[in-house]
Amino acid sequence: MNWITLEGGAEVFIEESKGGICKSCGTRFVWGVTRNNKFIPVTKTPEGKWISHFADCPGAGKHRKQPEGELKIVKAKKEGAV
Ligand SMILES: [Zn+2]
Repeated sequence: MNWITLEGGAEVFIEESKGGICKSCGTRFVWGVTRNNKFIPVTKTPEGKWISHFADCPGAGKHRKQPEGELKIVKAKKEGAV
């Protein structure tokens, strides 16, 4: 199971091998898909909690460009198609 719960309580499906480096702050993140099929970058805190990188990125708003191919794979896995 790749479902995680973010600090705020939202459930997100993640594919840990599909991640990237935030262009704004250099943090390594993992792509996740919410229940509403929205893609968000999530990061793990040192305490082992998952948080939306939109929430903690000092350069929030700059990472709108998403690698579409990678995201399709994450979404397909969430829906059990892969
Ligand atoms: Zn960032």
